[in-house]
Amino acid sequence: MPGVKTPLTPLQYLTYAAIVSAWTSGNYLGNTFCSSFINQDPNRAADFSQLSAALYRQLAWDGLNTNISSYDAGMISAADRNGGNQAQIGVCKATPVCGVFLTYRNQYRKVHVNGKAAATSQLYGPGGGPATDVYLNTDPRVFGVLKESTIVHETLHSISGLYDAWPESEQISDDLNLENLMGLPVPGKQCQGIPCPCKKGTVCISVAIWNHFCSVN
Ligand SMILES: [Zn+2]
Repeated sequence: MPGVKTPLTPLQYLTYAAIVSAWTSGNYLGNTFCSSFINQDPNRAADFSQLSAALYRQLAWDGLNTNISSYDAGMISAADRNGGNQAQIGVCKATPVCGVFLTYRNQYRKVHVNGKAAATSQLYGPGGGPATDVYLNTDPRVFGVLKESTIVHETLHSISGLYDAWPESEQISDDLNLENLMGLPVPGKQCQGIPCPCKKGTVCISVAIWNHFCSVN
């Protein structure tokens, strides 16, 4: 079954574009708090320096009404895809994009999802170019409160090609992920013995962007 990849409606697109535009004209990367946070880490600085260009080429889609697989959407790291990580390839092929937001049924079972995620992104460009696609949760309760930090967070995925955290199949990986790129505690590593505040990486990464004055919300 080929599945569908659904564009935003014009009104949804204008909402998304207004948030991108507000973030760009806010020049948050230029303030002392945000810029000192970015420059604490060379990898972080390198990725943030590409934000404007990446936002310019970004294509936003209706994630809630897209049911191509996460694999076909490019939501798998280049290393996992090209290195033949069969566990992760299997997970991505069995997960539709909308399955990030909604409970769904794949060929094996029903998978429960709480519906709170605001967006998800392509990690590599399937055609060989840069990653461009961001899939937004168009449920009005979520889309209506879409934040600048969420869009920055998603764009950092397309720039870096990194997951939020390591997938379950790669718990021992020493590769960077977006949580540690943002200086967040890593579950099972820096958090040993202390309840880790960042089990749900997606929210923590966006909050870190906002906490460091790199967006208005
Ligand atoms: Zn993320």
